[in-house]
Amino acid sequence: MKTYPGPSSELLDNLLSETSETTHQPPLPKQGIPKQKIPYLLRQIGKILALPLVLIDDSMQKIAKKIIHPPFKREGQCKRRGNCCHYVLVAYSRSLIGHLFYFWYTQILGFYKRLPKPQIYDGKKMHVMGCRHLRKDGSCGDYHLRPSICRQWPAVEYFGYPKILKGCGYRSNPPYPKKTPDDLYESKDPRLKVLQ
Ligand code: SF4
Repeated sequence: MKTYPGPSSELLDNLLSETSETTHQPPLPKQGIPKQKIPYLLRQIGKILALPLVLIDDSMQKIAKKIIHPPFKREGQCKRRGNCCHYVLVAYSRSLIGHLFYFWYTQILGFYKRLPKPQIYDGKKMHVMGCRHLRKDGSCGDYHLRPSICRQWPAVEYFGYPKILKGCGYRSNPPYPKKTPDDLYESKDPRLKVLQ
C-alpha cells in the first residue's frame, strides 16, 4: 500500500480526539446511511458462514495469550458507551482485493463511509467508516455476528501499549506512562478500530 508523509490527517486526528469524550454519536452522512445492495438473508448467510473462522481466530488469540502472556493486561469492564464504534478505519486500496474487502465490510458487515474522502492514518490512506449496527444507547445491534475486530477490542497485543479508548471503562495494567514516546503512540493509536 502507498504511504504518505505524516502520521495522520488533521481532520481525522481531531475527530478521534473528540470521540473519547463525547456523549453523542457523530452526525450521520447528509443523505442518511446508504442502503445495502445485498438482501438481508444473503448478508446473514455470509456472516454465519464466516462465523466459525471468526470464532476460531478469537479462540486462538485467547489461547496464545494464556500460554505466552503479553506485557500488559486489560482490566476493568465495558461501560457500553459505543464510542469505540464511532470511527472504524478500513484500508483504502484500488486493487481487486481492496475492492473485495471494501465490499465485504460495507455490503455484508454493515459499515458505511462517515467521510466522503479517505484520510491519512499512520501514513496510509484509509476510509473512515461508521457502523449501522451501533444503537443509540451504545449497544451493538449485531452482537452475535460482529466481526473479529469488535470481539478483540480493546486490543492487547504483544508489542506496544494496549489500544484502549479513554473513558471506556477498561484500563491497562501496568498503566500507560505519562509521556508516551511519539513513535509508539503513532503506531498504536488507542482510539480506533482498524480493519485492514
Ligand atoms: S458490529 Fe457492533 S461492535 Fe462492531 S463496530 Fe458495529 S456496533 Fe460496534
